[in-house]
Amino acid sequence: MSTDCIFCKIIGGQIPATKVYENDHVLAFHDIQPQAPVHVLVIPKQHLVSVNDLHAEHSEMLGHLFAAVQQVAQATGIVETGYRTVTNTGKDAGQVVPHLHFHVMGGKSLGHLG
Ligand code: 5GP
Ligand code: ZN
Repeated sequence: MSTDCIFCKIIGGQIPATKVYENDHVLAFHDIQPQAPVHVLVIPKQHLVSVNDLHAEHSEMLGHLFAAVQQVAQATGIVETGYRTVTNTGKDAGQVVPHLHFHVMGGKSLGHLG
């Protein structure tokens, strides 16, 4: 928990969000400025800034997080059509919110990456 973190405040209920899925480890909610018909953010309840904060001790939490990504894809109807899971780290990637989050986007053709 970081007191001045927007996403910690969403976890704590001080800032409202439209929740899609939640368990003891992670929370998923709709992005406030969707870039695709489905655009959900999946975050750990533990405050971690980015991938740079991840270590082997977080493997269990990450398992729960990607299981939640699947739950989100099921709940939003994009399992069969496909979706993109993205995390931005730092300035050059355009990370705006310094609480680790995974964008889950789908519901249209997103174009090829890579
Ligand atoms: P980043 O650029 O850090 O990878 O992505 C941050 C994402 O968080 C953006 O897509 C932005 O629209 C979303 N976001 C920022 N503030 C809020 C908020 O208060 N509520 C919700 N639901 N999404 C937010
Ligand atoms: Zn936080």
